[in-house]
Amino acid sequence: MTYIGRFAPSPSGPLHFGSLVAAVGSYLRARSQAGQWLVRIEDLDPPREQPGAASGILRTLERYGLFWDGPVIYQSQRHARYQAVLDDLYQQGKTYHCHCTRAQIHSSGGFYAGTCREQHYPAEGAAVRLRVDTPTLSFHDQLLGLIEVEPRLASEDFILKRRDGLFAYNLAVVIDDADSGITEVVRGADLLEPTVRQITLYQQLGWKVPDWLHLPLALQNNGLKLSKQNHAPAIDTLPVVETLIQALRFLGQALPEQPEAMSAESLLAWAVKHWQLASVPTTASIHI
Ligand code: GLU
Repeated sequence: MTYIGRFAPSPSGPLHFGSLVAAVGSYLRARSQAGQWLVRIEDLDPPREQPGAASGILRTLERYGLFWDGPVIYQSQRHARYQAVLDDLYQQGKTYHCHCTRAQIHSSGGFYAGTCREQHYPAEGAAVRLRVDTPTLSFHDQLLGLIEVEPRLASEDFILKRRDGLFAYNLAVVIDDADSGITEVVRGADLLEPTVRQITLYQQLGWKVPDWLHLPLALQNNGLKLSKQNHAPAIDTLPVVETLIQALRFLGQALPEQPEAMSAESLLAWAVKHWQLASVPTTASIHI
C-alpha cells in the first residue's frame, strides 16, 4: 500500500515555526517511504481566516522546498460532500439536533450531557451532534505510544455541524482524510485529544482508521503554544535555510556538514534520506 500523508494548515494567518515543524515532519515521513504528500487548506471557518493567507501559505511551502503532490484541496469547496455524509449519518440515527448553547453546557459542568438526544428537534437552527455510545478512550500513536484521553471528553456527543451552519473540524478532517486515502495522519500534539473523537467518527462511518503520529509542539518561552493567535512570527520573514535547520533540529534529526551552504531543496532531500522517527523527541511539547 502506498503511503499517503498530508499537511492541513488553517489559513488564519501566515505559517509560523510550529506549523513548519508539522509540515517538515509530515513531509519527511511521507517522502522517506516514497509516499505522497498532499496539502489541504482548512478554510472551514471564514470569520477566522485572513485574506490572502491560503496563497501565502502555499508560496511559503514552495520557498521552503516543500512541494506537494496533486491539486491542493480546499475545504470550502467540499460542503456538499460534508452535508451528504451528515445526511447519511442522520438517516442511520447516528446523529441528532441540539439547541444547547455554550453557556448552558458550561453551567452544567463543561461537558455536554446528551440533553437533546431524545428531543427529535428539526435541523433548522440546530447543531448536529454524533451519538457517542461506544467511545474511543485510547489509541496508538506511532511516536508517543499509547495515548489515553479523559473518558468524559472521549464520551461526549461532539458537534459535527455548528448551530451557525459551519461544519466542524472533526467532521471535515475525517471525510477529507478518508477521501484522500490518507494512510497516516502526522500533525502537532495539540491535536492528540480530538483524535479519539475522529476515530469514533471513522467507526460510525464504517471507514478504515488511518495511523496517527503526533509531533512535539513548539512552545514559546512563556509556555504558550506557538500559534497565529499568540502572534508567533511568520516564517516567510525568516531566512529559509536557517529556519529549516532549526526545524530539523527541533525534530531531533541529523544534519549534513555545513547545512547553511545548501539550498532548501537539497537540505530536504538529504533529510529525507536520513529521516529517523526514533530520533524525534517524545515529549509532547518543547520550549524553543
Ligand atoms: N488545520 C489544523 C491546524 O492548522 C490541522 C488539522 C490536522 O492536521 O488534522 O491546526
